Amino acid sequence: WEAVSPLWPTFSVEILPEVDSTNTELMRRARAGQLDPILLVAERQTAGRGRLGRDWKSDTQGLGGTLTFSLGVPLAPADWSGLSLAVGLAVVNSLHPDLRLKWPNDVWLEQRKLAGILIETASVGDARYAVIGIGINIAPRDATDLRTPPAALHELLPDATAPSVLASVVPLLAQAVQRFALEGFGPLRTAFHARDLLYGQAVVCSDGTTGTARGVDASGALLVHTENGLIKISSAEVSVRPA
Ligand code: ATP
Repeated sequence: WEAVSPLWPTFSVEILPEVDSTNTELMRRARAGQLDPILLVAERQTAGRGRLGRDWKSDTQGLGGTLTFSLGVPLAPADWSGLSLAVGLAVVNSLHPDLRLKWPNDVWLEQRKLAGILIETASVGDARYAVIGIGINIAPRDATDLRTPPAALHELLPDATAPSVLASVVPLLAQAVQRFALEGFGPLRTAFHARDLLYGQAVVCSDGTTGTARGVDASGALLVHTENGLIKISSAEVSVRPA
């Protein structure tokens, strides 16, 4: 892990041997008034979380398993929508050109999920704070306890370790967050399009809507061509999957 600290002098770096979830821990700290920039890494998570109350399963890391970390950052963008896409792009760009993004928060390899992103925000007085959690499968894992089959980075990069992956992702992530705070998602639309796993595919949404995915708009909302015309899906409550 030593490789990571010098990369990011403006953030403190903390490595925990075990925690329930790095997002849960940073949200707890934020609510207690700790709003400093921090990179928190867990060698083991016992209760990782996904969106909408779902689980993120992480095996013991060591040099394989799953890399789990969260970035806590004071942030007040004009518009928060699209932040998970900007973060996803930073993850994909720092790892491998074959990776794709599945709107709104997943990194996939072919038809399997390799990494998940969970963004939460806290308000304390006038201050706003973002907790950006990322879990990346480094080594192949068992699929039996998962809703969607997993992929692992070792399929593309056999020598990757949790620390080496962290050292690759963190600088691009830092840059992406800073740019997002200034410019929002808009300038990233073309870059997202090049990585968009769903584009042109038949999709089914958890609210029952079906159609063909047509990319995202300038705010990062998913565009779906349905029998009633083009609709935008921006609701965090909706899950979209290939039909
Ligand atoms: P959405 O597209 O709405 O985000 P999702 O199924 O990807 O849907 P998330 O909340 O992003 O949901 O992530 C949680 C899901 O990720 C779990 O329900 C599980 O199926 C899957 N999952 C959990 N741990 C892993 C893992 N280590 N590798 C791959 N997939 C995992």
